[in-house]
Amino acid sequence: MKRVNGDNSRRRVLLIYTGGTIGMKTDPESGALVPFDFTHIHQEFPVIQRLNVDIEVLPFDPIDSSNASPALWRALAAKIEENYDLFDGFVVLHGTDTMSYTSSALSFMLHGLAKPVVFTGSQIPIGVLRTDGRENLITAIEIAAAVDSEGKARVPEVSLYFQNRLFRANRSTKQSAERLSAFASFNYPPLAEVGVNIAYNDAAIHHPAEDETFGVESLLACDVMVVKIFPGLTEQTLNAMLSVEGLRGVILETYGSGNAPSGDWFIDSLRRAMERGVCVMNVTQCADGKVDMELYETGRRMQELGVVSGRDITLEAAVTKMMFMLGRGASGEALKSALRTSFRGEMNE
Ligand code: ASP
Repeated sequence: MKRVNGDNSRRRVLLIYTGGTIGMKTDPESGALVPFDFTHIHQEFPVIQRLNVDIEVLPFDPIDSSNASPALWRALAAKIEENYDLFDGFVVLHGTDTMSYTSSALSFMLHGLAKPVVFTGSQIPIGVLRTDGRENLITAIEIAAAVDSEGKARVPEVSLYFQNRLFRANRSTKQSAERLSAFASFNYPPLAEVGVNIAYNDAAIHHPAEDETFGVESLLACDVMVVKIFPGLTEQTLNAMLSVEGLRGVILETYGSGNAPSGDWFIDSLRRAMERGVCVMNVTQCADGKVDMELYETGRRMQELGVVSGRDITLEAAVTKMMFMLGRGASGEALKSALRTSFRGEMNE
């Protein structure tokens, strides 16, 4: 680990670098994009030393976040646990493509969190003049180090900072491959908005109870599938997907407020899978709004079958929550009840 600024009176932030666009710079000779060495961030990016924060850098082997998996999530959780008492906050630099998955997973895996874990990245490499990574990085560090009037962490939860807005991580989703405001949180307000000042939305920020202690739960099950319905989906295709050996959890991406085809073939396919112990959670393909299985006949049939409503949860949070709850060993009614309950503020109940 490389110490960047060193002054014991200052807040301490651990900067964990995992890869992604933010970690690239243009090679002056070839003009190609090459990895940026974050352990030398103070040389490459001297402005960082002007922050009133003591920063240490922990680089992982950089990956494109399309290659992220539960192994990365476990490694991140382990590093945060190992360094929890040594730092006041954590910033995780991550590729944007799966940042909402990783940060949602971490929000479930870390319990009793009393310190900020802020994910960020960039759309333009940090070594390119017009980068958005510079502001994202600096503000993420400021947020990770920020305290309230009592000296307590201002945002003690897993969050995602991008282009002037701080989101609850498990409410965030990547919304654009082009715009610098790549992320959005459609069903929960930003935890902070950044202009001349950082305006924290204190009422929206979660704080742990006094008696909660920090810990990590790392068991995640991968026997999970996302089934996105579309007009023309056939019984044969659906049956093939739902018959995958070992399948335990299905996130069913439905239309609008949780609607799906009303034919018996559809309900019967779900029933057969559920009779084999597969848990099905209904999330909407719409970014904004929620599942309401009471509204239409098709929703009601799924509800009678025992399909769980994901209400306004994001796909990223639904997938990682299912993996987490299955990893905990939940099954049957206990699993359904856990999925219906907001665990880390990931859905409105
Ligand atoms: N493919 C890159 C990644 O997710 C994109 C990015 O970082 O913005 O790692």
